[in-house]
Amino acid sequence: MKMQSNNPLLLIKLLALHSLLALSAAQDFDFFYFVQQWPGSYCDTKQGCCYPSTGKPSSDFGIHGLWPNRNDGSYPSNCDSSNPFDASKISDLTSHMQTQWPTLACPSNNGLTFWGHEWDKHGTCSESVLNQHDYFATTLSLKNEINLLQALRTAGIQPNGQKYSLSSIKTAIQQASGYTPWVECNNDLSGNSQLYQIYLCVDSSASGFIECPVFPKGSCGSSIEFPSF
Ligand code: 5GP
Ligand code: 5GP
Repeated sequence: MKMQSNNPLLLIKLLALHSLLALSAAQDFDFFYFVQQWPGSYCDTKQGCCYPSTGKPSSDFGIHGLWPNRNDGSYPSNCDSSNPFDASKISDLTSHMQTQWPTLACPSNNGLTFWGHEWDKHGTCSESVLNQHDYFATTLSLKNEINLLQALRTAGIQPNGQKYSLSSIKTAIQQASGYTPWVECNNDLSGNSQLYQIYLCVDSSASGFIECPVFPKGSCGSSIEFPSF
């Protein structure tokens, strides 16, 4: 079909409007943080924890989330209330979710609340790249690519309640994975700084790890505990 217009200006305006609309639907982030939590450090705090209804998670890092982020450190959140979490879209992933993405919040539950929160807050901001099923499937497969606990153990860093230097923890992960992690700490009941979450970065199409364009704010102190779980 031949497009006809005897008003070229109108055509240009329509084309401009079209590309503006395309832009506004495009992604509003530059990369992802892939965040994993150490269950021992979630549980031994003032808030405490509850094991999921499926039982005590294994002594391993668990997924917290895959968070779209911008290079200036800001991030979008809760981007699409018209596409809320729908557990039926990830029914094939449930058993992997339970082992790799366990919830530790109270009251004890099956995990859907945590996963739903992560989709609604973060996942809806990357739906131009990952639909609901693929958001969770991709995050699960990222965890398989880099084994944080193994990386730390290889360097002699064990979850045994001892203190380790922050730099030795970062170096261990860098050497095993090739990527520089960000380490977030929290405090146990006695106020000791401890390894809580590890951040790695993923490119904006969620196809693989990258060096982080920017790190979150905050710091741990130079020596931190690695509690058992
Ligand atoms: P907190 O305030 O405990 O550090 O973070 C609370 C929540 O805000 C996180 O669990 C996460 O959902 C979100 N959040 C905190 N920092 C960042 C960040 O740097 N990037 C993104 N994308 N989300 C963040
Ligand atoms: P974010 O900090 O990602 O915004 O949100 C974390 C939310 O998920 C909080 O409402 C928290 O209570 C809930 N949640 C459920 N299970 C967990 C868990 O195992 N770890 C963390 N960090 N939050 C959890």
